[in-house]
Amino acid sequence: MAIAGAVEEIQERIQKACARAGRKAEEVRLMGVSKFQDAPLIDQAWQAGIRLFGESRVQEAAGKFAGFKEAHPGTELHLIGSLQRNKAKIAAGLFDVIQSVDRDELIAELGNLTGDRKNPLMILLEYHTAEDSKSGYRDLDSLCRAAERALEFSGLSLGGLMTMAPFTEEEAPVRASFRALAAARNALAARFPAFNLACLSMGMSNDFEIAIEEGSTLVRIGTAIFGERAP
Ligand SMILES: *Cc1c(COP(=O)(O)O)cnc(C)c1O
Repeated sequence: MAIAGAVEEIQERIQKACARAGRKAEEVRLMGVSKFQDAPLIDQAWQAGIRLFGESRVQEAAGKFAGFKEAHPGTELHLIGSLQRNKAKIAAGLFDVIQSVDRDELIAELGNLTGDRKNPLMILLEYHTAEDSKSGYRDLDSLCRAAERALEFSGLSLGGLMTMAPFTEEEAPVRASFRALAAARNALAARFPAFNLACLSMGMSNDFEIAIEEGSTLVRIGTAIFGERAP
């Protein structure tokens, strides 16, 4: 089973990267990014030990995960792709965490949908640290304003930041992108002690070891687990 072997190999590489960085392997969560993968493959990943899945489209995730979650207790599902306002309601009901919050309008929309929740919906703010990516807050000021907005809604809890590094073979710009995310998190944490901003979601198949060295607590791995996906 190719997926089981791939998961094992990634877990070993995570452990080694943690050891190099003087970190504990338990500090880094492994997400299987299952976008464009069908249910049998997602099931194989679950059998291989993956409990956290990431999807980039609301509709696709709703189709694949609505029944899956009941049949696979302990499954956690995060949204990692851009969210349209008109899908916010489905998203708030389906996802455990929305990692890709990139504008204040969305915070208000999600906040208005979650006011009566016992357990708040966790959100991460997406920070635009590389030119290749289209989405994300552009600077620390706008991240701070977003955090202030999130404070207004009891149904939301801000859990940290996420980013995508530039797509390049060069290490320096990738590392700089991850450093910028960690620095922004530290700055926000100092200004917003009400939030526990523990989550730094950074690192994908081709750069997760660098991300771990720079403090990642959640790596989002698609291709290296599932193989190339048909777009
Ligand atoms: C697709 C995607 C990933 C996974 O990318 P791989 O290179 O296949 O590991 C991670 N994060 C986001 C936001 C994505 O859209």
